[in-house]
Amino acid sequence: MNPVIALVGRPNVGKSTLFNQLTRSRDAIVADFPGLTRDRQYGNGQLGNKPFTVIDTGGITGDEQGIDAAMAEQSLLAIDEADIVLFLVDARAGLTPTDMSIANHLRINRKKTWLVVNKVDGLQEDIATAEFHELGLGETWPIAASHGRNVTQLIDIVLAPFPELSEEEMHPELDQRGIRIGVVGRPNVGKSTLVNRLLGEDRVVVFDKAGTTRDAIEIPFERRGKPYVLVDTAGIRRRKNVTEIAEKFSIVKTLEAIKSCNVAVMVLDARTGLVEQDLHLLDYVLTSGRALVLAVNKWDGLEAEAKEKMRAEIKRRLGFADYADLHFISALHGTAVGDLYPSIERAYASATARWSTNRLTTLLQDAVREHQPPMVNSRRIKLRMAHQGGSNPPIIVVHGNQTNSLPEAYKRYLTNTFRKVLKVKGTPIRFEFRSGS
Ligand code: GDP
Ligand code: GDP
Repeated sequence: MNPVIALVGRPNVGKSTLFNQLTRSRDAIVADFPGLTRDRQYGNGQLGNKPFTVIDTGGITGDEQGIDAAMAEQSLLAIDEADIVLFLVDARAGLTPTDMSIANHLRINRKKTWLVVNKVDGLQEDIATAEFHELGLGETWPIAASHGRNVTQLIDIVLAPFPELSEEEMHPELDQRGIRIGVVGRPNVGKSTLVNRLLGEDRVVVFDKAGTTRDAIEIPFERRGKPYVLVDTAGIRRRKNVTEIAEKFSIVKTLEAIKSCNVAVMVLDARTGLVEQDLHLLDYVLTSGRALVLAVNKWDGLEAEAKEKMRAEIKRRLGFADYADLHFISALHGTAVGDLYPSIERAYASATARWSTNRLTTLLQDAVREHQPPMVNSRRIKLRMAHQGGSNPPIIVVHGNQTNSLPEAYKRYLTNTFRKVLKVKGTPIRFEFRSGS
């Protein structure tokens, strides 16, 4: 599990500026989960071989009565999920009463806290930081988030206690042990039930011994002689009785599982229909580029009318994920659960397929002949060559001229054409355009 850094502080101190600095690398995935998290934003960052997750907590308003509630509602939740807290204050605004109350809250929390004095650009650092010692949080760390000043140095020190990852650990999706399946979805849709089904009853017992509180858990298993690895977020442990507390839904854990799997099986609940949380999670799966299989669960005993309603809703609201296979299952009764495997296999095969430059370039030229890109500044946009730039998700790099001016509609045309001809199913395809002029 990667270290999780929470950014806290009152509004305007520079949290989102720092968040953007930390998550702007090419691989960074910024997930905005308004419906899921009440203003918390999650992103991935990386320093050398140390990936980390950042949570931006929005802001704590200066309202004295409201502050406890605000802390409880957002920041405490984020702090709870975090290993490290960066408490930001504003060198230009100076020390405020709100900073004092936040510091009091942080002091009683046992998480490692760093007092970060932002906006020191153009100021003398020791003078700018001096007054914040009064907060009683120890050493101050001056930075200028908008200039990137001292940011890398700070994160380097903050992450010092955490080990560097090996290349394999950096890229869990390249796991050779088998297809990595992540079963994801909001609470109560039936993830644990499905996971138990997928593994078969025998495996559950084995699993009772394992399980830390927060790590996404990996379970290698075999089906019909083929190896798989299940990346579980649901808490596979069987709930023994009603008094047992259901494992808390952890967004960090869910994001981690999505990032580290090859194929995400996203579980939806036919009884409740689609809700905002479903769409946000799905959006994250898509942004992360993971292959996807959709499983509409609790299909058992549903009236024909309810089934029709769910189908229509999916068609209307999940159009953006229409490349994914859709299954209607009952995890409880095991109905259609086995059908997920061919879809998982196919999505994985598509996500990891390799195509020669020759094939892709021919395909590109055919597509261009069929349908020319438009003229820009009285010159026609030229697309000459295509090669593969990556997999899981597949990345197609297209070289040409004036590709910056390529209209969205034409990009969609290319995506659809490549998808159809290469028979890509169950995974997003990404296009990158490079221009010679
Ligand atoms: P948040 O509300 O805590 O997320 O704060 P923002 O990141 O939105 O920043 C608030 C304002 O402070 C914006 O206008 C930023 O451009 C500015 N700001 C952020 N970091 C710096 C900095 O290092 N130096 C200066 N001078 N301004 C900054
Ligand atoms: P999780 O929180 O996503 O892991 O959901 P659980 O697997 O714990 O399931 C939540 C509830 O839905 C439990 O009461 C399950 O028995 C029930 N459930 C799960 N799958 C099905 C299904 O296919 N049909 C019906 N009718 N109920 C189900």
